[in-house]
Amino acid sequence: MDVTVVGSVALDTVETPLGKNEEGLGGAATFFSLAASNYVPVHLVAVVGEDFPAEHVELLKSKGVNLDGLETLPGNTFRWAGRYHDDMNMRDTLDTQLNVFEQFHPKLPEAAQKSRYLFLANIHPALQLEVLEQSKASFKGLDTMNLWIDSALDDLKKVLSNVDALIINDSEVMELTGERNLLKGARAIEAMGPKTVVIKKGEHGCLLVQGKNVFVTPAFVLPEVVDPTGAGDSFAGGFMGHIAQQDATDFNTLKQAVVHGTAVASFTCEKFGPDRVAEIDPNDIANRFRAFRDLVAF
Ligand code: AMP
Repeated sequence: MDVTVVGSVALDTVETPLGKNEEGLGGAATFFSLAASNYVPVHLVAVVGEDFPAEHVELLKSKGVNLDGLETLPGNTFRWAGRYHDDMNMRDTLDTQLNVFEQFHPKLPEAAQKSRYLFLANIHPALQLEVLEQSKASFKGLDTMNLWIDSALDDLKKVLSNVDALIINDSEVMELTGERNLLKGARAIEAMGPKTVVIKKGEHGCLLVQGKNVFVTPAFVLPEVVDPTGAGDSFAGGFMGHIAQQDATDFNTLKQAVVHGTAVASFTCEKFGPDRVAEIDPNDIANRFRAFRDLVAF
């Protein structure tokens, strides 16, 4: 089974306590695609400007990502800049330039429309609604962020009522539902639509809730975190990739998918931008999956 992702492809400027990476390849859909391409064929639907470096296109192609849905519009590529605190669970957004995103209306090529698995990575919920109208997917995952909870809640609620799974940060759960207790927050989200809720807690791992079923995992413990940007999107890529590969969404498969997401996300943090997640292969992921099992077994 293949998976379609729609979201941002960006040029990111990121500062962490370990250094700075200026105008490197970024974007939610980029990290997702690089991660998920280790599992199944990926269709990437996004927009870039005429300034988008050809080497980034080549990198995505070299990982087998289908770029028929990657549009190039006149103007500049979406740009995002962020700075991490010493506590790298915290970051400030320094700059967001929508650029070509302002004229973008996603158009899914036929193969992407037919994908059984769809992931709506981080973009404006109004655009996510346009994607839902075109997709024939039977399992739809969603990511969002505080910006849209604050500024586009009505559209976001429409999207939520039409997806199967939401992957969200713990702080965003509180913003979206008003609940401090994550289990109560997950229940409130279930009532909005998605019957599967994955709550990410940064370096503290994540919580998976589906009806009465609850599962928790820690994050993989790394000796050094260089840059956590894109960890959430890589997590989603590993999670959706595993589900699409197994072509199953029962709770046991979802638990395994969460561990795959955790394993892939941990690689992303080891180097700046997508440098590390772009160089791993399924064997690296399998080894980390086993190391993770040893880490949590008792
Ligand atoms: P994460 O670290 O998983 O939250 O993802 C960071 C990525 O999201 C970066 O590569 C950014 O380019 C991208 N991003 C940040 N803000 C936005 C936004 N408003 N819309 C779409 N993508 C964004």
